[in-house]
Amino acid sequence: MKPFTAKHQAVALSAFYLPVIILGMFFNCLKELLLLAFFGHIVWHYYYLYKLNNWLWFNKSTILPKGQLDWQHAFNGLHNMQQRYRKRRNDLASIIRRFSEGSEALSDGVIVYAKNGGIVWSNRLAQFQLGFKRNDKSAFSRKEIYGEHITSLVPNPEFVAFLKRDNPVETLELPSPIHADQLLEFSVMPYAKHKRLLIVRDVTSYRAMDEMRRHFIANVSHELRTPLTVLQGYIEIMEMQLDEKSQQAKTLHILDQQTSRMCALVEQIMTLSKVEGAGSVDLDMIVNVPMLLKQIENEARELGKNKGLTIEFDVNPKLRLLGDEMQIRSVMANLVYNAVNYTPANGSIKVVWCLSCKTGGHFSVVDNGDGIAAEHIPHLTERFYRVDESRSRDTGGSGLGLSIVKHTLSHYGCELKIKSQLGEGSQFSFIIPTRYLVEK
Ligand code: ADP
Repeated sequence: MKPFTAKHQAVALSAFYLPVIILGMFFNCLKELLLLAFFGHIVWHYYYLYKLNNWLWFNKSTILPKGQLDWQHAFNGLHNMQQRYRKRRNDLASIIRRFSEGSEALSDGVIVYAKNGGIVWSNRLAQFQLGFKRNDKSAFSRKEIYGEHITSLVPNPEFVAFLKRDNPVETLELPSPIHADQLLEFSVMPYAKHKRLLIVRDVTSYRAMDEMRRHFIANVSHELRTPLTVLQGYIEIMEMQLDEKSQQAKTLHILDQQTSRMCALVEQIMTLSKVEGAGSVDLDMIVNVPMLLKQIENEARELGKNKGLTIEFDVNPKLRLLGDEMQIRSVMANLVYNAVNYTPANGSIKVVWCLSCKTGGHFSVVDNGDGIAAEHIPHLTERFYRVDESRSRDTGGSGLGLSIVKHTLSHYGCELKIKSQLGEGSQFSFIIPTRYLVEK
């Protein structure tokens, strides 16, 4: 339909008033006729205005009233607008329905909440997992649990602290607030403007499988330890009874070396499964790191005594750590022994343990050894990854050391940083957050 333009308006007005003017002039009563025409015109407009008003406010029907001339055009315009609005509303409803169906089909619970913590929306799985109720039928009603604070869903201080950190990379595992035997993993990510998306995943079966795998490995390693110790004992006795230069003694020496390697490997596997199984850092124990590093220094000097290495330890004598001594020892010792093992004769090693301003406890081991090619660096913390198998075998390496380091550091919420340049040396470092440090 064509729009009602000013030209149309002018033509309509002329068609109405021109005959009135001609008749008025002809009968010499122009004033009276014009007044009558004005009055009729106003009544006509008021009539349609009344119809429109009635339709807008009282009539429930979607069918617009019928009009004439410009009023017909105005009603048609309103009708078009109404159609467009209805179509847009239907499109929007179908987008929302699709989104809602999609989020209901997700295998994770999803909760949207505002930056101030007020819950905006959730899917049904999240309600089931966390045991809250939505008092509406529509997934998008704003009445539901809107306004309730997100922290009220899981009454746990760890959960509150986790939400405050607002770190999209971090995840938190907690028992379900309603099913004690269920383990839930939470992650938070930014969503829309000033909103957050809390994703809740049921990881009970993954963790159970992981636990089974760890137990199996720990049990096998434990069972292997006894026969290996017996074997080592007998080899030592037989070595003592033989002439050092005899062929049998040489064979026994190789046997001894290999059983020692196997013992070391079994120990490393057991340490790794212990570290993997350990929960958060034990905050009741204080580890005397300076004393620990003194022991490691002595052992490192003993290990590299035939290589003429320059080993320097720069240790803050007051800086201690909260946590498990065995785990901290294995982290620091692994990095220091690696430096000793992979630095050629006459090389130098520097170990630093100090308080780094604001960031935390800084530990680093720098050597000027052979270094590591860039393509190997991202894989070094994978289990059994070795850059040079034969070299690692010579040093008795299993490829598990850096894996143990990475897992232990993850309990402290920090990462192992590796910088290395082929032919120039390597630097292995990490920073323990201030909350785990004790100065005495
Ligand atoms: P391994 O028991 O074989 O030493 P790690 O997990 O401790 O296993 O180390 C993995 C690999 O990283 C080692 O095989 C070695 O090739 C390399 N590596 C570790 N530390 C150093 C270092 N300081 N200099 C050069 N290479 C290193």
